[in-house]
Amino acid sequence: EVLISLSDISKTYIMGEVKVEALKATSLEIYQGELLVILGPSGSGKSTLLNLIGGIDTPTSGQMLFGKALLSNGREKDLTRYRRQEVGFVFQFYNLIADLTAAENVALAAELVAEPLAVDDVLRDVNLWERRDHFPSQLSGGEQQRVAIARAMVKSPRLLLCDEPTGALDFETGKMVLRLLRDIQKNQASTVIIVTHNTAIADIADRVLRMRSGSVAEIIINENPLPPE
Ligand code: ADP
Ligand code: ADP
Repeated sequence: EVLISLSDISKTYIMGEVKVEALKATSLEIYQGELLVILGPSGSGKSTLLNLIGGIDTPTSGQMLFGKALLSNGREKDLTRYRRQEVGFVFQFYNLIADLTAAENVALAAELVAEPLAVDDVLRDVNLWERRDHFPSQLSGGEQQRVAIARAMVKSPRLLLCDEPTGALDFETGKMVLRLLRDIQKNQASTVIIVTHNTAIADIADRVLRMRSGSVAEIIINENPLPPE
């Protein structure tokens, strides 16, 4: 079942005289419940594609559907609702609020949606119950990323978007975070999209999309995705 479809979506950044075609007319369907990994070198348009899918950014042209709803209708209100209710974001550098505790960071996100999960349950799911009253500066990178994942998951989003989620973590910690993301995809039937330049992460994906110079160079279907050990 198709969750999101992009038709001829493009994004051009204009800086004075300079135009950057970050994404060239791209068509793509994203399926309910899949784990999609987006690979490609730096500057190939991965983050641009992810930000468009997440409604953080709007396309220069083209059409984007969420289920049957048209997201590329130019109405900021619809896009904001979609981004808040349906999408969870996980970033490389966690983007936690420094003067809120782990639990408060998660609770703040819960306030944005109509039917959040219980903050305590989500903190237990990411194995951070004991650390719930710690501030980000008192947590390791892996723990901070787990808070960020909890903050995304408390909204019970249809779509979890992760931009280099292991980019700031050591190898073992990164694997733990990937395992958690895979568990979320499997257990909550969430659609998970991971942007990375780490080709090793492709092994856990249902599909791998390779970007090159603002275009989708290829899509590979992985019949037997491997668990991250
Ligand atoms: P990736 O995530 O693969 O590294 P990006 O999507 O971040 O690639 O960038 C694609 C291209 O768009 C690059 O040339 C980048 O410099 C440019 N770009 C990205 N964001 C902006 C922006 N806000 N303003 C101007 N150019 C941008
Ligand atoms: P990059 O990976 O391209 O260096 P980030 O992953 O930090 O950058 O952010 C990607 C995009 O998401 C940026 O356009 C940024 O403005 C936006 N962004 C960053 N943090 C948040 C947040 N907490 N909520 C919503 N959007 C955010």
